[in-house]
Amino acid sequence: MPLSVQASEPPQNCDICPRLLGFRTDNQTKLPRGFNGAVPSFGDIEAARLIIVGLAPGLNGANFTGRPFTGDYAGDLLYSTLLKFGFASGNYAARADDGLRLNETLITNAVRCVPPENKPTSEEINACRFFLKNLITQAPKVELIVTLGKIAHDSTVRALGDKVSKLPFGHGHTYQTGKGLTLISSYHCSRYNTNTGKLTTAMFEDIFKTARERISETIDG
Ligand code: URA
Repeated sequence: MPLSVQASEPPQNCDICPRLLGFRTDNQTKLPRGFNGAVPSFGDIEAARLIIVGLAPGLNGANFTGRPFTGDYAGDLLYSTLLKFGFASGNYAARADDGLRLNETLITNAVRCVPPENKPTSEEINACRFFLKNLITQAPKVELIVTLGKIAHDSTVRALGDKVSKLPFGHGHTYQTGKGLTLISSYHCSRYNTNTGKLTTAMFEDIFKTARERISETIDG
């Protein structure tokens, strides 16, 4: 079926990027019980005031569970931080059926399919921006976007129609975008960044503390 020009989510069997399709086909044999598809965003697009943009699903994490950052090392820090600042409720148990809920928050990835060695090509990032752009445009309540890592940052800036040279990536950099949204960029909460001390828990929590200050909490009920 042809893609709608307004699609904000690729089909699970998206075939736009030949290399990613080939990798997925191999993984369907190697990890037959995994999700192995374009991982959909997590959260309610109608309710989201905060959108978090990651890089791409991890092979044994989001690609396996079918939910962004779920089962990935990076998800441990991301979800504990979201719980701490009220952007999520319940328990995170690294499974898509753990019942964790996001509060006025949506998590997506710049590239929806797992790339070999966690490295999407520029063509793949550019192709997948179609979905990111539609997603942001169609989120009626979005006020703030947090990007995790330079690839997510640059692709989001481009999806918003802004220039990376004007809004360069930097941990903690906060911008007003041309579309009237606030953008906060963060180092990616990857195992590499946390193990090397490039990103500490305190630095990551500061990003979401700022996000919380900008988005006042809505009391349930
Ligand atoms: N898992 C994701 O879904 N995205 C990332 O950026 C990293 C791990």
